[in-house]
Amino acid sequence: AADLALIEANIRDIPDFPHEGILFKDITPLLNRPEAFAATVRGLTAPFLGTGIDHVVGLEARGFIFGAPVAMALGAGFVPARKAGKLPADTIDQAYDLEYGTATVEIHADAITPGSRVLVVDDVLATGGTGRAAVELVRKAGGTVVGFSVLMELSALQGRGKMPDVELHTLLSV
Ligand code: 5GP
Repeated sequence: AADLALIEANIRDIPDFPHEGILFKDITPLLNRPEAFAATVRGLTAPFLGTGIDHVVGLEARGFIFGAPVAMALGAGFVPARKAGKLPADTIDQAYDLEYGTATVEIHADAITPGSRVLVVDDVLATGGTGRAAVELVRKAGGTVVGFSVLMELSALQGRGKMPDVELHTLLSV
């Protein structure tokens, strides 16, 4: 509980970013405070210690920052899931709907071996579109999604509803 209070105290609200009417949760103060960053990594990792995770998939870009230390703590590999066109080798991809149009996430085709156990990590779960695409991508690669670990869930946007078949772990729900 002390950890959660420390984490929450280091996330700030930025009104009208990136668009008018959006209240953006800025996690950069948390990154810049080592006790808070460490507490976040511990919190994201704890439920999945000893569950045989082979790979942590981190979602561009803030999911890289949290996913990499989570992977180290679990003794797992780290796999970046990137926006289309950023990864240099052969990729597999998954499209998803945005408010206007679509976006695509990709991982390297050889990054996840069939049958491996995967934890997906990101900073914020909003509508759940990004997270859902990542789950589908891991399954396309033949991996088992053991869980999805997220720092903060924006409950009004109902992203949790897109994850009925995934063990969703969130540290904070606002
Ligand atoms: P979703 O696809 O769930 O609607 O949006 C989640 C993605 O957008 C995540 O990758 C997350 O990093 C980013 N995102 C959406 N809203 C916020 C926010 O308020 N703060 C931060 N830090 N990221 C957000």
